[in-house]
Amino acid sequence: AVVILRLGHRPGRDERMTTHVGLTARALGADRIILESAAEGRRETIEDITDRFGGPFDVEVTDSPLGRLRSWEGSIVHLTMYGQPVQRVEDEIRASHRKEPLLVVVGAEKVSFEVYDRADWNVGVTNQPHSEIAALSVFLDRLFDGRELDREWEDADKRVVPKETGKRVEEAE
Ligand code: SAM
Repeated sequence: AVVILRLGHRPGRDERMTTHVGLTARALGADRIILESAAEGRRETIEDITDRFGGPFDVEVTDSPLGRLRSWEGSIVHLTMYGQPVQRVEDEIRASHRKEPLLVVVGAEKVSFEVYDRADWNVGVTNQPHSEIAALSVFLDRLFDGRELDREWEDADKRVVPKETGKRVEEAE
């Protein structure tokens, strides 16, 4: 399993970012996202997309995100611009993921040193500052080696039919 831990959420400022971390995690093959209680309001939007476009994908809300990190049974990746280049550590992480669950931590603002310390890998998607959504996308695509792009969705009400132009959405059977 691949679980995303979204650390931090500044009400007002981070609403769309947190929603998009969740939607990106879902679309690119993660199984679950853990949000802090400050982000509770984002749960419904993410679950609504899962209801319409399929899953499985779960949203969990915790009042102790660091507690979830400390008690995690499996390996931990922390995405940070200060980390080791993803292209250098991806093979090792993939091998570990075949054996045990993986927690992928992304921040909103400054992340406490405990996270860097507890992580098995601090991973940079480039060592340039950018965004948790971008970092998560590239990381998941590397982890799954592109296979997430072809996945099947379960219990969807709606399905997009890819078109060269225009939009087509069908009721899923
Ligand atoms: N300056 C903040 C710090 O010192 O932690 C980072 C804030 S950044 C806007 C929010 C999140 O995006 C980070 O916590 C990290 O998870 C992710 N991020 C930003 N750039 C990244 C990069 N180059 N590689 C991996 N993750 C990155």
